[in-house]
Amino acid sequence: MRRKLAAGNWKMNGTAASLAEVEALAKAHPTPAVDVLLCPPATLIARMADRAEGSAVAVGGQDCHANISGAHTGDISAEMLVDAGATHVILGHSERRTDHAETDAIVRAKTEAALARELVAVVCVGETEAQRDAGQTLAVIKAQLAGSLPDAGVDGATTVIAYEPVWAIGTGRVPTLEQIAEVHDFIRAELKDRFGPVADGIRLLYGGSVKPSNAGDIFATSNVDGALVGGASLKASDFSAIIAAL
Ligand code: PGA
Repeated sequence: MRRKLAAGNWKMNGTAASLAEVEALAKAHPTPAVDVLLCPPATLIARMADRAEGSAVAVGGQDCHANISGAHTGDISAEMLVDAGATHVILGHSERRTDHAETDAIVRAKTEAALARELVAVVCVGETEAQRDAGQTLAVIKAQLAGSLPDAGVDGATTVIAYEPVWAIGTGRVPTLEQIAEVHDFIRAELKDRFGPVADGIRLLYGGSVKPSNAGDIFATSNVDGALVGGASLKASDFSAIIAAL
């Protein structure tokens, strides 16, 4: 009942030349069995949205400000993302939490801004290696979910959760399928506890070193409804193979 989602996060990668990858991806998957989303850097959102128009590829941002406009040099609002052609936005990625000191409260305010503009919020949570080693993984995820999600407006149509263990991002290291299932089952239970039956519709993505070679096993894991893919989303050939594995 939950349609799977393959989401690509280009991070701070890509120039105009990279837009050829979008066309290749759209061509390779005219009617994919899953939802496909690419989140390029802000400079490419509008151009990517133009190139992707009429295709099955949706375009998203990697962050938005909590306010709609104002004196915030370098920031982008949810309204601006919509104006540029985005339909989704990644929020609370661990690189934002670390590089820009984003707290759960900030992520929550940004999520509220995104939902208010009808952007689908892809809210990221995940433990560090030290937290996992200390046996704190589920407590960390519980606190991040509680603090980062607003009380109103969260459901399967508006919100996606991405579980990304910080130690698995860009490292080539992946949790075991049991570890992924444990966290995803826990997230589903936490969401049900707080939001009730609508939580059944919320898609839970796994992220962190997803590649064509491990995607099939990860996607077959309990409560995994897709992936948030960094490095392997930059090339249409890799991302295509991941989409095909979903
Ligand atoms: P990775 O990044 O696939 O390159 O590990 C995932 C992410 O940070 O979203």
